[in-house]
Formats: sequence, structure tokens, C-alpha cells
Amino acid sequence: MDYIFTITKTRTPKAKPDETKLGFGNYYTDHMFIMDYDEESGWHDGRIVPYGNLSLDPAACTLHYGQMTFEGMKAYRNPEGDICLFRPEMNAKRMRNSNKRLCIPEIEEGLFVAAVKALVDVDRDWVPSVQGTSLYIRPFIISPEPSMAVHPASRYIFAIILTPVAAYYAGNDKELHGSRIWVEEEYIRAAVGGTGFAKCGGNYACAMIASANAKKHGCDEVLWLDAKEHKYVEEVGTSNAFFLIGDTVVTSSLTGSILPGVTRDSTLQLLKKWGYKTEERLVEISEVLEAAENGSLKEAWATGTACVISPIGVLNYRGKEYSINGGEVGELSQRLYDSIYGMQTGICEPEIEGWVVPV
Ligand SMILES: *Cc1c(COP(=O)(O)O)cnc(C)c1O
Repeated sequence: MDYIFTITKTRTPKAKPDETKLGFGNYYTDHMFIMDYDEESGWHDGRIVPYGNLSLDPAACTLHYGQMTFEGMKAYRNPEGDICLFRPEMNAKRMRNSNKRLCIPEIEEGLFVAAVKALVDVDRDWVPSVQGTSLYIRPFIISPEPSMAVHPASRYIFAIILTPVAAYYAGNDKELHGSRIWVEEEYIRAAVGGTGFAKCGGNYACAMIASANAKKHGCDEVLWLDAKEHKYVEEVGTSNAFFLIGDTVVTSSLTGSILPGVTRDSTLQLLKKWGYKTEERLVEISEVLEAAENGSLKEAWATGTACVISPIGVLNYRGKEYSINGGEVGELSQRLYDSIYGMQTGICEPEIEGWVVPV
């Protein structure tokens, strides 16, 4: 199906930033995508317009009760200069699931992907080409409806904005290295039955205090434990967690409190293809710490769109430090990074067909 969006180009294009000093989310491109929803017309009037402020009634219900969802994905420029997305239909599918949980009308996957492609195409000159850089894509949905009543809104805005970004590694943006992770026992991110599997603002608002706490303890990020027993490993900050124990790669199963990462899924599929034993199951923190002590924990890493693969060098549990692989980047972490990043940037052929989608 073809989707038609109207395009209004800016008459005042911005100067492009220095590609070697992008940081994360410091610059926004010339255009944005906007689409409206109301009960009569459904999602309608998809359009690309000059980047600019949204005008909201101060009573807009998203501002008060947090009914919103978002996504995060990247466009990369390959060595030939072409622009590609990585598994964008996975983000489309996940946003539908997030919307269902937040009582927001779903957006059909084809429409979501078409909107992302159309906007990236209009701002294609903004996709940077310096090693490690990319164009970060942020689709999100809010409601502009003025209401103090706590109930699902009847009007929504779907928007997409773009920001050229540098490579991102926890605590250091220069190169892949082992990060220091605080095992969090006081605060929780999400409980089963809650919104942990959805990308919605509230999950992040409630998590910031723990990241700050981790930094106070000299760590880069937190390792979340389950809400009920504080016994099982869940995620690392805003990334999924993997452990190579003996010859098996284990990661937490999707219990409902875990965000189903696209990078998590890609990692599992690659590992299976490469012949590794993988297990998605409940992973006890005590099992991980024992494995670290007896040497069977060979590697650990976090996966996510922002970092791709971020190796874990040290776990800090109740003030005691557990070093993993001597704090160094492990072989498998490096191989996964090289493979996934290589596919995304077009340096390597896609290992699995259909993962790299041209714009
Ligand atoms: C977005 C996110 C991830 C990673 O998902 P990707 O699709 O791989 O980027 C993991 N955990 C949380 C909490 C997230 O918000």
C-alpha cells in the first residue's frame, strides 16, 4: 500500500553541525513528521513540515497523566552513501504493543515505516557519515486533548523527529570498553502487569533516581532486578542484559516487565546462527555473581539501539566488585558489535535477509 504525505519544506534550512562533535540529541534536523488522530477520521493527515514547536493547551492530558509512547531507531549511511534502516518493522510492531498497553490507538505497521522513510528521505543530507555516527529517529505519540479526567484521550498526535548522533558507549563515547554496573536493590523499573514491556515515558521518569544512585557509587548504569523478589536480573539501564556463562549465552525471558529490544532479538538470532547455545529464562543475580567468582562468567554485555553492544566490565553488588573478563571487552561482545554495527552501516553484508532496509 502506498501512503501519501504532504511535504512542506523549510525556507530556512539550518547549518549542519560538525560531525565529529555531535553528542547525543544536541541537534535536530530541518523537518518533522506529524499525523493526527481523532475518533471520526482515525490516523489522518500525515505530513512533513519544518521542525518547530508544538503548541499545546496547558491542560493537554499527556502533560499530566503521561499517556504517551515512543520508539528509538537509527538510520545509517553506508560506504556507497546510501541510507539504510535496521529492522524498522520491529519498531512499528513494538509501538503497536506499547499503544495497546497505554490505550492509544494503534498505527498500522506499514504506515509507521512509510512515515519514518519519508521523513528520513526529506532530511537525508542530515545522516552523518563519520565513523560511529548515525541519525537517531524518535517517533512518539502524545495527546493534545485538554482534560483533567483520568481516562484515555480521544485525540492524539504522532510525531517523528530526527537527531544526528555520535557513537554512544556508557560513560565514554570514544570506544567499546567495559562499563561499571551497579546492581540496584532499592528501586525497581517495572513490575509484571505494569508497563515494563512498553516504551512509555513513565518507565524512564521512575528510573532516573536509580541511575543517579549508580553514578553516586561510581558506576555508569544500573542492573535492574525483578520487582517482587529482587532476585532475578532484568535489564541494564535502558538496555537488555546478556551473560556468557560457560558455553551458554543467557538473557532474561520476556516476562512482561522486560522491554523486548530489537537488538536483543537480533543478538539472539545471530548467536543461534553462529551455533551458540542460548537460553531465555529467569536469571538469578546469585547465579551471575557465583559465576563471576568461580570464573565461569566469561562475558556480559548490554544491547540497545543507542549503544548497539555495551560490554559490562564490573558488577557492583552491595559494595563488592565482581570483575568480568578482567574488565576488558570480550571476544563475543566484540564479534556481536562488529557484526550488528557492520550490518547497520553497510560495512558487512546482512547476515540475515531483510534486516537492512534502504530509504
Ligand atoms: C529501548 C530499550 C531497550 C533496547 O531496545 P532496542 O530496540 O534494542 O533499542 C532495552 N530496554 C529498555 C528499557 C528500553 O527502553
